[in-house]
Amino acid sequence: MTSQKRVHYFGKTKSEGSKEMKDLLGGKGANLAEMTSIGLPVPPGFTITTETCAEYDAIGGKLPDGLLDEVHRNMALLEEETDKKFGSEDNPLLVSVRSGAAVSMPGMMDTVLNLGLTDKVMDGLANVSDNRRFALDAYRRLINMFGDVVMEVPHHNFEDEFDRIKDKYGVSEDTDLNEAGLEELITAYKTVYKNSTGEDFPQDPYQQLEKAVEAVFKSWNIPRAIRYREINEITGLLGTAVNVQTMVFGNMGDDSGTGVAFTRDPSTGENKFFGEFLINAQGEDVVAGIRTPQNVDEMVKWRPEIYEQLLDVKRILENHYRDMQDIEYTIEKGNLLLLQTRTGKRTGLAAVTIAVEMVVEGRITQQEALLRVPANDLNQLLLPTFDSKAERDILTVGLPASPGAASGKIAYSADEAVDRTHEGESVILVRKDTSPEDVSGMHAAAGILTSTGGMTSHAAVVARGWGKCCIAGAGEVVIDEQNRTITINGRSFGDQDVISIDGSSGELMAGDVPREEPKLSEEFKSLMEWADHHRTLQVWTNADTPQDAKRARNWGAQGIGLCRTEHMFFEGDRITDMREMILADNLEARRVGLDKLLPHQREDFKGLFTAMQGLSVTVRLLDPPLHEFLPHEEHLQQELADRLQVPLEKIMARVTQLHETNPMLGHRGCRLSISYPEILVMQATAITEAAIECKQDGIDARPEIMVPLIGTSKELSLLRKQIETTIQSVKEAKGYNELHIPVGTMIEIPRAALTADEVAKHADFFSFGTNDLTQMTFGYSRDDVNSFLPNYIRHEILERDPFQSLDTTGVGQLVAMAVSKGRNEKKGMKMGICGEHGGDPLSIRFCHQIGLNYVSCSPFRVPVARLAAAQAAVKK
Ligand code: ADP
Ligand code: MG
Ligand code: MG
Repeated sequence: MTSQKRVHYFGKTKSEGSKEMKDLLGGKGANLAEMTSIGLPVPPGFTITTETCAEYDAIGGKLPDGLLDEVHRNMALLEEETDKKFGSEDNPLLVSVRSGAAVSMPGMMDTVLNLGLTDKVMDGLANVSDNRRFALDAYRRLINMFGDVVMEVPHHNFEDEFDRIKDKYGVSEDTDLNEAGLEELITAYKTVYKNSTGEDFPQDPYQQLEKAVEAVFKSWNIPRAIRYREINEITGLLGTAVNVQTMVFGNMGDDSGTGVAFTRDPSTGENKFFGEFLINAQGEDVVAGIRTPQNVDEMVKWRPEIYEQLLDVKRILENHYRDMQDIEYTIEKGNLLLLQTRTGKRTGLAAVTIAVEMVVEGRITQQEALLRVPANDLNQLLLPTFDSKAERDILTVGLPASPGAASGKIAYSADEAVDRTHEGESVILVRKDTSPEDVSGMHAAAGILTSTGGMTSHAAVVARGWGKCCIAGAGEVVIDEQNRTITINGRSFGDQDVISIDGSSGELMAGDVPREEPKLSEEFKSLMEWADHHRTLQVWTNADTPQDAKRARNWGAQGIGLCRTEHMFFEGDRITDMREMILADNLEARRVGLDKLLPHQREDFKGLFTAMQGLSVTVRLLDPPLHEFLPHEEHLQQELADRLQVPLEKIMARVTQLHETNPMLGHRGCRLSISYPEILVMQATAITEAAIECKQDGIDARPEIMVPLIGTSKELSLLRKQIETTIQSVKEAKGYNELHIPVGTMIEIPRAALTADEVAKHADFFSFGTNDLTQMTFGYSRDDVNSFLPNYIRHEILERDPFQSLDTTGVGQLVAMAVSKGRNEKKGMKMGICGEHGGDPLSIRFCHQIGLNYVSCSPFRVPVARLAAAQAAVKK
């Protein structure tokens, strides 16, 4: 490994990277090199590769031999290009040391600025800049950042000193502290540093550099970085790169500043330059939310020529990258310098708007637009919003940092948010600002509210990345963490009070607010049209009620792939009839109960067939074990005994008799129909009668009957015969013959998949029940998997939860085999999937590849599935 190039330079003399080299140089390094190459103003520097980080880990956390020589050679280049010298007391070169992995992880690994300053160099900087205050400010920042990030000195030790000295000098903003105050602060910081590390703050610039580089590598595996990768399912990266870059200064006075911008609005997608800046500030001040920054529109008043330059940068970057970019920049004495660009994180709403507008602008094709929107992010557009007509008790208005509607009780810390959410509460995390330590709590909370920080603060950026509702910079909210209250203009709320936040308007409201279905934009409709045009896979839905069916149909469902009939036995009084049937001692008595259930089921089916007229409705016969229908608590059993006028003992005896050690592998699915064919007869009768009655009313009912949990072809052949006989006798009784009801089966037991050719002889269609199939292939109980699954994911034994995303290598093999065996037996046989996976984009891609006809998913996932199906077709 030693012969490989570990350091890549970017600058006027040469630029050794490009945007295609993200894996090796990290996103930040690759794009700094790219921007340099296309002539944008970027301070020169160099990038140490992600491979070096992997090397560092592999050799037990040591800088590999030869690395420092390479760093020295590149520092020499940098000195030549900038005409400054690292460690010089006359004309010092200072650098920043920045981490950056291939995938952007906002705020995960910390940057050290002003590296290279020592007591003496600081004096030199004061001289050359003719600005002692600035040099002092840079130095105190270095001691703080270096101490905090590199040496793990607790951050609050520095904060406490800062607060003390600001108090002493009677100032509240850090920019107001004078030179004497800063001198005192530096002395205090050095003491903090020494007390905590046992060493003096290093006075050798190269020692600073070496330690900082090492700290970046180390930070790859700190818990919060690991946690961020877990939440965002980021796997397979080598490590982080290290960027060493010439410092430019936004803290040189009122003609300097620092800012963050997006080339379009990352919340709504509107094509408008969007961002914030702070005058006389450095680095992370905007993101950290220390001072609430100004909107970039204000820059026109401050420095119109820089605003114009930024608009040029927007144009150049969008033309070059053909996507919305997120940039970080600094203005040093009126000069604009770019410090970062990357594809901007955006909400689902913005993703759709930007993708569609970029097609209209002629920048990208429809296919590219389809691939630009993460299918899952469509969910955010489909979530209910606060009812526009409902009354709102508005407490204050903050910045609309990330759209959405969230209500909940107030949580004051990230840990609290995690715990209370875990206990089933809906909470809003309320904080002054947030930092990377808070990500777990931010993720858990229903919404986030901060009292400081702007639209590009940590809270805002992270929330938008997840599509989580967030208000930032609600300055009127006073948070009293100690007493667990927040106060807004004299009104106080405790931790049991519910508040609501509207992330689209920035309104904070007291209490809960009614919601309404979202209004879908024209851009959304265009994108969906393109998706339908490009996809080949049909999208069906899993729906048990006419309301669900209608909703799914509105969202584009092309059929019902799974209608579970269980609920039809539960509603209202029907459960009593069902229980009577289960308690019956003989067939005659069972039929009495079933006869009472039949008309109800018939009506249910008529409702469904009507809602879905013209489209298939696949009805699954009763599937759960019978004990699920009986009461298990004694007082409920007593109630039932009274109502049915049977002895309590009888009920208890039946419950005991039906008890199974492992009911999911027990007496359920088609096994029920084998034992109690009369249940099947009742259901098939209800379906056929409903269909005939619909047809006689001119409604094009298209039922299909699906037998669950087949393991052998014999089960299916036997049951199919009974179903067909039943259908035939209903037709005869009704004197109606223009009806064909296909009979198919679910493939959800591995044996059924293995013998799919045999099974296919008796089936008109297959529907893959991948929930059970996953359960039985892995031997994991879906209900108990959470006790060990998180650990499996952490150890990367499994890449992801196989119940959420189909295990294409294992379970997928069974599915693919059953498809080919089945179609060998019956050419062109219709096949679909109706497990939870039918709504998961990765699984949908697999379904497309193996040639399924449709995926069936819950109604609210239908648009997601349509887009995912189109993406699968386009990617091919
Ligand atoms: P993050 O990955 O958290 O965005 P960065 O490495 O981008 O961290 O650093 C954060 C900020 O520090 C930048 O946005 C920029 O304002 C400042 N910064 C980094 N390098 C320099 C530099 N060479 N000169 C001036 N400011 C810098
Ligand atoms: Mg950072
Ligand atoms: Mg950055």
